[in-house]
Order: sequence, then C-alpha cells, then structure tokens
Amino acid sequence: MSFFREEFTARSAAVRVRFGAGIRKAVAEEMETLGLSRALILTTPPQSAMADEFAGYLGARAVGRFTGAAMHTPVDVSEQATALARELQADVVVAVGGGSTTGLGKAIALRTDLPQIVVPTTYAGSEATGILGQTENGVKTTLTSPKVQPEVILYDAELVATLPVAMTVTSALNAMAHAAEGLYARDRSPLSSLMAVEGLRAFRDSLPKVMAAPTDPAGRGETLYGAWLCGTVLGQVGMALHHKLCHTLGGSFDLPHAETHAVILPHAIAYNAVAVPDLLAPVTDLFGHGNAGLGLWHFAKDAGAPMALRDLGLTQSDLDRATDLAAANPYWNPRPVTRDGIRSLLQAAWSGAAPAV
Ligand code: NAD
Repeated sequence: MSFFREEFTARSAAVRVRFGAGIRKAVAEEMETLGLSRALILTTPPQSAMADEFAGYLGARAVGRFTGAAMHTPVDVSEQATALARELQADVVVAVGGGSTTGLGKAIALRTDLPQIVVPTTYAGSEATGILGQTENGVKTTLTSPKVQPEVILYDAELVATLPVAMTVTSALNAMAHAAEGLYARDRSPLSSLMAVEGLRAFRDSLPKVMAAPTDPAGRGETLYGAWLCGTVLGQVGMALHHKLCHTLGGSFDLPHAETHAVILPHAIAYNAVAVPDLLAPVTDLFGHGNAGLGLWHFAKDAGAPMALRDLGLTQSDLDRATDLAAANPYWNPRPVTRDGIRSLLQAAWSGAAPAV
C-alpha cells in the first residue's frame, strides 16, 4: 500500500464494544456503567420474544417495549416509538435485532439524543455507523450524524445462531459489500483498509463453517467479528457504485435489501476492478479466480446465495429504467459510471451470469 506517500484522515467513533457468546446478559451492567436506569426495548414483531427476554435481564430498568420496528425505518413508526420513549421518560434505548431495529433506535436518538445500546442479530453492520436511512411517503433519505451513532454494542454469537441459513448468507454478503467498497473509498485510511481486509477474511473463513454447523458459536462468533469490522468500515468511509445500485433497486423497485446486495456485489466489484486492480488485489488474494469480482461471485455461488435479480422480482423490462436511475445524479466512483457500462452490469446481474472481467 502506498499510504505513506499520501495524506489521509482517519475517523473513529467512540463506541464501546463487548463481544462473546452470552454477552447480551451484561446489558444491565452496561446501563449501570452509563448511569442509566430507564430502558425502552426495541424489536421487530417477529422478534418480540427477545423483548421479553431482555426485560428479564433488565428487571425494573426496563420501563417499556416497542416491538413494531419495520424495514427501511418508516418515519411514522419512528414518531410513534419516540412518543412512547418520551411518555415513559426512557433514558436509553436497547435495540435488539437487525438493521431495521437498529435503525429505529437511531431514529429515536436523532429526535431525543437518548443513548443507544445495540444488540445485533444480523450482520448488517448498522450498529457500527452514524448513518440513518429513513422512509417517508415512499422516499428513502439517508443522513449521517454523531447523534445516531450507538454508544454500546453487544455482539453475542448466540443471537445470530437463530438467523436462518438463507438470511445468514445474504446478510454476510451485505456486510462484505461495505468492506469491499471501503477498499477503494476516496476517504479510506490505513486503518479502514486493514479492517476491510480482515472483515472479508473473517467471512471467507467462517461462512462455510456456519453453513455446515449453523448453531456452532465458534463459527457464528467469527462471522459476527467480520460484521463488526465491515460495519465499522461503513461508518468510516464513503461508499460508491455498489451501494448506489442497491439503493436504486431497493428504493425504486422494492427489491429486498440483503438479497440485492448479495447479487450486485460481484458485478459492482468486477466493474471497478478494471479501474483499481491494486486496491482490490487483497480481495483477489482472498477469493481467487484471478479477479476480485469473479472471486466474490464464486464465493457467493458456493454459499448458495441468490445470484440473479430476476429471481428477486425484477423484470427484464425494468433494466433500462434501473440503468437511467443509477446513471443519473453523478456520484463518485473509482471508474466512471457510464450508461452502457451499467446496462451490461445489470443485464449480467439480472440473468445470473458471471460478471464480465
Ligand atoms: P432486518 O433487520 O430488516 O431483519 C429482517 C427480518 O429478520 C426481520 O423480520 C427480523 O426480525 C428478522 N431477524 C433478524 N435477526 C434474526 C435472527 N437472528 N433470527 C431470526 N430472525 C431474525 O434485516 P437487516 O438486513 O439486518 O437490516 C436491513 C435494514 O438495515 C435496511 O433497512 C438497511 O437499509 C438497514 N441498514 C442500515 C445501515 C446503516 O448504517 N444505517 C447499515 C446496514 C443496513
């Protein structure tokens, strides 16, 4: 790496991270450390049993629960949960779940400045960022603010052990996308690149182990370690083509979040590898096949990931509009974003073909 000949600025958030199988049970201790006594527990409806479990760990410190967290953080749900937090005079939110639940905790923090303790149950990585995406009237907007950066993260491998195998794979590829794009980010630093490579390495080694033994805490622990690193990269540097494409496909065609990341990742990385082969060389070293995008494509295929946008509900006739949307509003990418380039990329991703290299 040639960092020592370049200038860089490194940003790190002040976050307390605890890691370990069963560490969720330390949630009351964490509140104590922060001098907090009134927790509002957040989950999605399918994970409401987790709210009961955490109320058990917190005893009188649990003053309420809101189990209505929803995908893409709808503003009306956030307003409702914020009103409950105010009514209960909560002094902390405890968010237990994936990116949707973490997003709700962040939305409450944005409105109230309450601290957040996050207990992730997927690999999405939102807990490690100061980024919040919100939806209102069908439009998703994203903001970055220190106000939404969670203060404490409890990474407990026992909680991801329940993640169904299909979601395990797509969520892992979602996390890996943060790291892969982080490697060529304009605002990368030596630290963010080290974390990106180690995060990708952790998933490369542990995902096959988790597929073979989904409830084994050792394999799950290593995936969660990868999620922490990849999420931290997302919190430190800007993203490019891959995230823009996923944002377009999710926002305008309602494609599912993690699955879309899983399909697009190899294609976006192959597209950019033409421009920055050196920066993506660590990905080629880790995943083989002589090209970063191709290596990731084979890794995803071997893991049983969805490989084609057509299987996620996108029709062939949507591809032109998706291309126009993704090519509009020029944004930074290491390789110029051309209409023809994006159209061919999307065609391959739609049909499930290997990325062009
Ligand atoms: P999710 O939080 O939407 O969860 C999907 C479903 O899986 C939910 O029903 C949830 O209850 C369930 N689930 C979660 N963990 C489970 C487990 N261990 N066992 C069984 N079921 C479980 O999914 P996600 O992919 O984690 O998050 C996606 C959302 O997060 C998107 O809205 C995305 O934009 C956002 N996100 C934000 C950031 C950020 O930095 N702001 C980063 C990544 C993702």
